[in-house]
Order: sequence, then C-alpha cells, then structure tokens
Amino acid sequence: MVTAQKFPARPFLAQWLWLGCALTILLAIITVNLYRTHGRIAQAENERLAVQAAVIAANLEDRLSTINLVLDRVLMDIRENSEVLRSHESVKDYFLALTTPVPGARSIFIVDAHGTTIASDRGHAARQNMRSESPFMEVKAHPDATALYLSSPSKSPLHPDAIHISRMIPDSEGNFAGMVSVMLEPSYLSTLLPSLLYSPGMWGAIYHSDGPALTIAPTRSGYGPLSQDGHLIAQIAFDPATPKLEKPLLIEFGRIRSQVFLQWHQDLIFRASVFTLICLVSFLAVRAFQFAQRRAEHQKASAEAILQTTWDNYQLIVENTTDLVARLDPRGYYIYLNQAFSSIYGEPVKECLGEHFAARVVEADRALAEMSFGKLNEPPYVLSFTLRKLTMDGIRHFQWTARALLDPHGKTMEIIAIGRDMTEHMRRVGVLEHQAYQDYLTGVANRRHFMNLAREELTHASTYSQSACLLMIDVDHFKHINDVYGHRAGDLMLQSFSKVLLETLRSTDIIARVGGEEFAALMPDTTLEMAIETASRLNNAIAENTLCIENATALRVTASIGVAAWQSGLDLDDLMDMADSALYQAKHSGRNKFCVADAPESTVRR
Ligand code: GH3
Ligand code: MG
Ligand code: MG
Repeated sequence: MVTAQKFPARPFLAQWLWLGCALTILLAIITVNLYRTHGRIAQAENERLAVQAAVIAANLEDRLSTINLVLDRVLMDIRENSEVLRSHESVKDYFLALTTPVPGARSIFIVDAHGTTIASDRGHAARQNMRSESPFMEVKAHPDATALYLSSPSKSPLHPDAIHISRMIPDSEGNFAGMVSVMLEPSYLSTLLPSLLYSPGMWGAIYHSDGPALTIAPTRSGYGPLSQDGHLIAQIAFDPATPKLEKPLLIEFGRIRSQVFLQWHQDLIFRASVFTLICLVSFLAVRAFQFAQRRAEHQKASAEAILQTTWDNYQLIVENTTDLVARLDPRGYYIYLNQAFSSIYGEPVKECLGEHFAARVVEADRALAEMSFGKLNEPPYVLSFTLRKLTMDGIRHFQWTARALLDPHGKTMEIIAIGRDMTEHMRRVGVLEHQAYQDYLTGVANRRHFMNLAREELTHASTYSQSACLLMIDVDHFKHINDVYGHRAGDLMLQSFSKVLLETLRSTDIIARVGGEEFAALMPDTTLEMAIETASRLNNAIAENTLCIENATALRVTASIGVAAWQSGLDLDDLMDMADSALYQAKHSGRNKFCVADAPESTVRR
C-alpha cells in the first residue's frame, strides 16, 4: 500500500530565505539609486537657483549703482549749494532730468535734519514732514555718509509698496543733516525676477538682511523669508563694495520641494510598483515552484513505493520459484543466484557466487555450454539450450533460456539466465518415445518404427550399393495356443518368440512385430545366401525353443518364413510384398520352413 509521505519544510524555508535576501538586495539597490538621484536633483536644483540669484545680484548691483549716481549728483549739488536747488521751479526740472533715466523712480526729494521735505520733484511733497517715516528714521538712526539706504516697501496708503533709496546729507563736520531719497516702484528692483522663474512653485526675493523683503515674485502675502521646510532655497548675500549698502541684502530663489522632486516621486512610485510586482510575482513563482516540487516529490515517492512493491513481488517470485534464476557477468561467472540454486546444489547460494556457470556442467555437455554462451553475444542475444548438470541428486537436465543485456554501445553488460529442471519431463518423454517406437508386449520395434528404420536402411544400401534382405516370420497355428492355453499363454509365447529372434539375429538387424503373431527382420549388408542361412537357423531355433507355463506345461511353436533379397530399384513395400509371397508359399507348403522370393522359380528348403 502506498502511504502518504511527509516532506521536510527546511528546503522550502531556505528558498524563502533566498528570495527574501534577493528582494532585500534589490530593494537596497533601488533605495540607494533613488537616494543618489534625489541628492543629484537637489544639488542641480540648488546650483540652478544659485545661478538665478547671481543674475539678480548682477542686475541689482547695476541698478543700485545707477540710483547711487543720481543721489551722488544731488549730494554734490547740495554740497556746492547749487543754484538749481534754490528755486522751486528749477528743482523740479533738475530732479526730473535726474530721474528720467531711472525708469522706476516715482519721485526724488531732499529732507532736512528735522525730517521736513525741503525739495521735491513734486510740488505738493515740499514741506511734508518725514520725521516719523521709516526711511528717514533709518538714516537718522544709523548715519553714514557713504552708505546707500534701502527701505522696506512703504505701508503708506499714498505710496503702497514704494521703496526708498536714500543717502545721508552730511553737514560740514560729517554729521547727519538730512537725506536725499529716491522713491522707487518696487518693480524697479525686481524686473528680472519673474523672468527668472522657470517653473511653477518657484519664487525669487530680495530681503533686507534683518528680515523684511524688498521685493518678491510672484507676490504673496507676507514678506518674510519662507522656512526651509518643504522648500528648496538658494540664497546669496548681496553686499557690494560699490555702492556700499547700509544693510546687506539677501537674494533668494526657491522652489517647492514637491515640485522639484515631482519627477523623482513619480519614479519612486514607479519603482515601488515594479518592486511590489516583482515581490508578488516572485512570491507566486516560488509558491508555484514549491507546489510543483511537492507534487513531483509526492509522485516520486509514490513511484518509489510502487517500485518497492513491484520489487518485493519480484523478490518474492524470484526467490520462491523452483526455476533457477541467475545473473552472470560477461565472462560467465555468477553474480546473482536465487534460492533454487541452493536446493539444487545443496549449498548456500553465497558460496556459489563467483563460480563459473560451466563448473557443474557434465563433461559431455561442456562444449555445448561454451558454444551456447558464446552465441549470446550475437543477435538476437537470446538463446535456449539444454545442459546436464551435476547436482546433489545426481545428473539432472536443465532447459536454460538466457538473454544478454547490452549497454548503449551494444556491448554485453551481463546475462540473465533462467533454468528449469527438465529431468522428470525428459524421462516421461523417453517413456513416450519408447512407447511410440516399440511394441508394448515384446519390446521389439513396432510396425511404424520398423517401416521408418527399414526405409533408412534401404536408402543407405542404395547409396552405398550394399545388399539387404528381409525376413517375414509368422508363428504357425498360433490361434491354437490361444485357444488351448489361453490368451495369457499366447502373450508369453510371443515374448519368448521375440527373445529367440533377438538372440538368433544380429544386433544390426532391425526386428519388429508387424502384426499379431507376425514379425519382420530387415538384415542390412546381407546377401541372399546369408539370409537363407539365417532363416534356416531361425527355423531351428524357434522349433527348439520351449516355453514353460502353468502346471509345468511346455509349449513349443514353429514358424514359417518368407525370405526376400533387396535389389536396386525396389522399395520397402515391394520387398515386403515379395517376402509375404514367400511366407505364403511356406505356409501353404507345410509350415515350419522358409521360402525365398524373387527367384525365377521359388526355391523351398527345409
Ligand atoms: P497360420 O499357421 O495359418 O498362421 O495359423 P494361425 O492360427 O497362426 O493364424 P491365424 O491368423 O488364424 O490366427 C492368428 C492368431 O493370433 C489369432 C489371434 O488371436 C492371435 N493373436 C494375434 N495377436 C495376439 C496377441 O497379441 N496375443 C495373443 N495371445 N494372441 C494373438
Ligand atoms: Mg500364424
Ligand atoms: Mg499370421
């Protein structure tokens, strides 16, 4: 019976571990690759943002220099107490001429040390008090005749977002004596900013170093710097030697990180999806592989169990059969013998292993054994033959069927032989043969066997031009024996009669009982004279033979004999007809005599 097999989980666990390792390595490669790509993108973006900031810095320096030149000119004219500053009308033209090349200038004005606007390109601004305005307060608080002051965007409703760029007016001792200031459109500083924004989610800004923004694009509520969280920011400090700024500026370009890494995130999602897919597919593949492996192992185990059962059956049969089963190497030495050998040889099987198969073959059959074994190396590589072997019960006949097993090159690997003890069978066949050829009562040949043997002899005589003669012998008045002494006595007389024939004739003569009380004798290599002499001798021997039966009764018989000499051209039937004719003559001319056939005139002799 095939039983269910359990398979160890260890190889499968190892497969899962291998898969886990492989996926971990793959994940690590993907992660490192993504991390490095992330770093490269961040670096490239930072560099790009820094380039934008540098462009703005160069532009800003250029623009501030222009303003500074304007302010320098005004300061120079104030210092020299220029005529143009005295007249209200001429100041207006003067300022107009100065600010015309500056596209973003809204106005230009001069404020005294008390904050009062003393001159302006716009009449209404004159005498306006700037004391509490931050541009004035800034200059007054940090007086520096060489510095350029940039104010934060104005919060006044009159000039929203206007930026003041100012210079301090020094008195003769260099102390604060007022300021000259240009009020600018905020866009003057940031004309370039929007054009440098190359992607959505990006901004550019110029800050005072202490925080508030001068300009920012795109505009948004609040002018403070954005936190680094969620943004990628490049900043450069703007503090040129000329014009010298009272407070350095900070130029900033930034992008929302999610925008910068949008492509990277898509790549991340793609790779994560591919990795998940690989995990899923490999998981399913390993499961399928393990399932197939389990099924294959189960099938293998089932096949092995069936094979084992088959092998057990085979062992049971081979070890219990009375036939001899042997495996031999190509030289004829036993490499396996079944138990039947033990009972045949009377020795344990293992002691017979290594023995040559011909070792126990009778001497007379050895040549046949060797020849048969040699023929196994030729097609059809299978052979049946009978050998006599010496066994513990004497000489026995074995019918062998042997087959050579060949390797792929056609060379004999080994030989399998099955032998069957045919001794009893052959004995029975012998008995049957005997019964088929011999007369059951007298033991001499029967009529059919006689006919076969006699034909062969006549053929032989014809071939070698030899002589041959036939005697037909019939018991005289045999019926009388049966009638008077019984059938049993008749049988005994027939046996006794046969014995006389065997003793009187030669061993080479073929003697047969061809009828109830009729016998024939073919005598090879015998001339008519010799046959006549033998017939005469036979008549005498028969007549002298006495058979004693019950009650000491002695019985005697005589016989009539027909003699025929074979001549070339006659067949057996002819010869028998001739002998029968001669026998007939002997019967009808008195019995207990022989007559010779085939003579021109029959010769009758006593
Ligand atoms: P003849 O001299 O003319 O040959 O006379 P016969 O009596 O011998 O010849 P016949 O043919 O008349 O008789 C032959 C007898 O032989 C008859 C038969 O019963 C007997 N007989 C034939 N076969 C056997 C046999 O096997 N056993 C016995 N006991 N008698 C046999
Ligand atoms: Mg007779
Ligand atoms: Mg007869």
